[in-house]
Amino acid sequence: MSRPIHARLDWAALRHNHARVRQVANHSNIWSVIKANAYGHGVLSAARALEDVTDGFTLIEIDSAIALRKVGIRQPILLLEGFYQADELPLFAEWELTPVLHTLWQVDALIAAKLHVPIYLKLDTGMHRLGFTADEFTQVLARLEAAGCAASITVMTHFADADEDRGIAEQMRCLRAMTNGHALPLSLANSAALLRFPESHADWVRPGIMLYGASPFPARQSAESLGLKPVMTLASELIGVRDIAAGDRVGYGGTFVAEQPMRIGIVACGYADGYPRHAPTGTPVLVGGQRTRTLGRVSMDKLCVDLTYLEKVGDGETAATPAIGTKVTLWGEGLPADDVATAAGTVAYELFCALAPRVLVIEVDE
Ligand SMILES: *Cc1c(COP(=O)(O)O)cnc(C)c1O
Repeated sequence: MSRPIHARLDWAALRHNHARVRQVANHSNIWSVIKANAYGHGVLSAARALEDVTDGFTLIEIDSAIALRKVGIRQPILLLEGFYQADELPLFAEWELTPVLHTLWQVDALIAAKLHVPIYLKLDTGMHRLGFTADEFTQVLARLEAAGCAASITVMTHFADADEDRGIAEQMRCLRAMTNGHALPLSLANSAALLRFPESHADWVRPGIMLYGASPFPARQSAESLGLKPVMTLASELIGVRDIAAGDRVGYGGTFVAEQPMRIGIVACGYADGYPRHAPTGTPVLVGGQRTRTLGRVSMDKLCVDLTYLEKVGDGETAATPAIGTKVTLWGEGLPADDVATAAGTVAYELFCALAPRVLVIEVDE
C-alpha cells in the first residue's frame, strides 16, 4: 500500500472553467496562464487539456515553453518576463515564442539580435513593478519602428487592485493617456479584472487562477458563485484515531489544548506535501464528507483533525465515528481551496503552487 495522499486533477473542470472565460470575455482571445507548472497542476497535462479550446499559452519559464513545443503544442506562447539574458533570444525565434519586453536593455538586445518576432510591450500604469514609463514607451516604439524588428506589437499592462476596492479605473486612465494616438492591440485583464470589469477585456485576456477553479476575490464572491469548478482535489486518509482527555495537548509545541475529552484523527498530509504549516487550529477540513477543523500545528507529514462532534456513519449498531481509512479532503471537491487559504491567511494560488512533488497525482478527464 502506498501513502494515501493524492492530488486528483480534473481536466474536464479545467475546460469548464476555460469555457466560463469564453462566456464572460466573449469578444477576446484567451491567453491561458500556465506559469509555475500551471499553478502546480502540471504544465504539460494542463496545456494538453486546453490545446483544442484556448488561443495561446502564457508562461514565465522558457524551458516549459520549449517542452510544450517539443510535444507539438502549436498555439502562440507568451513569456511574461521576456528574456533575462540576450543569449536566450535565438530560442524565441527557433521555438516561435513571444517575449514581453519591459525594460530598455531588452529592446536594445532585440534590435542588436536582428530578430523578427512578435512582441509585447509592458507598460507600467500604476503597479510600479515592471514596465515602461510613458517617455520610455514613446522612445521604444520609435526605435522598434526604425529597426523593423517587431513582427507585431501588442501593448500589455497588469492591474494591482483588480480584486480590491480601488479597482482598475486609475490604471485604465493612465493606459489611455499613454497609448493615446496608437492603434495597437491590447492585453490587460487577469482573472479578477476579466470577471469584474468588462471594459478591460480588450483583445487578449490573461486568466490564471479562475482556470484552476478558485475565486480571484474570495472575500467578495465564491468560486462556485462565479460558475467555476475546482480542478485540484487534495485528499488523504485518517491513519490514526485516538481519544484524548481534557488538558491533553496535540502536536508540536502543544499549541492546542483539549478543554474536554475529544476524539481526534491523524491525517497523512503535512507541510512536506504542500499543506501550509501556518494553517492555524480551526482550518476547515472534510472527514468522510463532514466538515470539521484542524487541531494544533501542521507537521511535516501529518496533521490532526477534530472528530469529536462528527456524526456516526454506517447503520444501526455498527454505526461509528470516522475510523482509520476514512477519506479526508484537504481542499477541492466539497471544500473550496479558498476557504482553506483564507483560514491560513494566504490565497489559493499559493496552496496550488506549493503542491509537493512527492504527492501522487491522479488525472481524470470526464
Ligand atoms: C500571473 C499573471 C496573470 C494571471 O493572473 P490571475 O490572477 O491568476 O488570473 C495575468 N497576467 C500576468 C502578467 C501575470 O503575471
